[in-house]
Amino acid sequence: MKLLLATNNPHKAEEFRSIIKEHEIVSAKDADIFFHHEEVEDTFLGNSLGKARTLYEACRKPVIADDSGLVVPALGGAPGIYSARFGDDVFDHPLSQKERNQYLLDCMAETEDRRAFFVCTISLILDEYRFYIFQETFSGSIIHEERGKNGFGYDPIFYIPELKKTAAELDENEKNRISHRAKAGKRAELLINSLNT
Ligand code: IMP
Repeated sequence: MKLLLATNNPHKAEEFRSIIKEHEIVSAKDADIFFHHEEVEDTFLGNSLGKARTLYEACRKPVIADDSGLVVPALGGAPGIYSARFGDDVFDHPLSQKERNQYLLDCMAETEDRRAFFVCTISLILDEYRFYIFQETFSGSIIHEERGKNGFGYDPIFYIPELKKTAAELDENEKNRISHRAKAGKRAELLINSLNT
């Protein structure tokens, strides 16, 4: 099935292609469809479904969208849906990812409970009355300093105890087997494969 992906980001389209291998993923940008969605909801689900609906309204073809972020229970769920801009308001300018990670470590300086998990919500809209939601998590803990060079975002401070590695120390294939996005994406792929469209 051809699926339009609600993003203008080529990296995200690549990542989706490496997870949902059995279907054609085309970004809105590559399909020449103007896509802009303001994330105004207060849940991953609301934002993911909002992006999918915005793109579906623009093309009326099967679409897929995601929203993801890091949840730290000891910080009341922060950064959560604000993961991409966590700390920008405190410092009054957009932080680099290194600064953002350091800000999170500073927020947790006195915190003993280091548990954290990533969340990914994928929304798949086939038509107005047929849509599916997949939400998955990827659990670990926040270490005290960055480790590893791979991945992106909070990966260098996100430690997976079973593997004794941070997410930034995993290679792309390894991460794409166990991540929140991979798990939700694989579920979406299985569902699509089971449909008689
Ligand atoms: P998005 O919704 O996929 O664009 O993700 C929002 C933000 O969550 C990103 O800018 C990252 O800061 C964070 N994030 C989501 N997934 C990951 C991940 O797999 N590793 C590290 N950070 C992530």
